Amino acid sequence: MDVTLPMTDGTAVTLRPSKIIALGLNYLEHIRESGSVNVQNFTDEVPEEPVLFAKTPNVLIGPGETIILPALIERYHFDEPRTDYEGELALIIRDRIRNVSEEEALDHILGFTCFNDVSQRNFQRSDKSGWFRGKSLDTFGPIGPVIVGPDEIGDPQNLRIRTRLNGRLVQEASTSQMIFPIPAIIAFVSANFTLEPGDIISTGTPSGVGPLTDGDVVEVEIENIGILRNPVRAEKS
Ligand code: MG
Repeated sequence: MDVTLPMTDGTAVTLRPSKIIALGLNYLEHIRESGSVNVQNFTDEVPEEPVLFAKTPNVLIGPGETIILPALIERYHFDEPRTDYEGELALIIRDRIRNVSEEEALDHILGFTCFNDVSQRNFQRSDKSGWFRGKSLDTFGPIGPVIVGPDEIGDPQNLRIRTRLNGRLVQEASTSQMIFPIPAIIAFVSANFTLEPGDIISTGTPSGVGPLTDGDVVEVEIENIGILRNPVRAEKS
């Protein structure tokens, strides 16, 4: 789904990423809540290198658009159906890159924005192929509200990140707490995959993840960016 976001330089960017690469397990306190999240390959061990997974571009929705919990979920009759919010700092890649060094990495960022890595835990737990389906359902990637350029973001590794569910604070951390900082992430991702202009990398969620239900409103707020607010609806079967 096409999402067009304003940039802080007055232009606008329509996001059509060739790929969305996300990190799992990039905040220690989130790793410590692995028991509650309870999905495949999510243990309390600190990873030795960035843990990457993909989300497909059909997940993207803009600020104010609705996160849809698909009717499909109800057909499984899970004892505890659980689709979680995950507030994250995302970055948009500026140009085609491969194998960039950590020193050069920040020069290849178009800008920063808020991202909600919405995740269907029951599918992540049980699908034989792993996390693919649970991470890539339609609307499971709200992004925005604005793309802040590298000159205006301040220190991207020292930003407060907060998530609110129906106005209640549920996640609060600093991007200084990332296990793998942004230059290391870009270097590692670009050693594996050629990155194209407009590709999105999301840098992982801090602790405090929890379930979304019909009628909720979820907000991801990052210092120097703003608030990404989305309502949640359960699709009628
Ligand atoms: Mg995540």
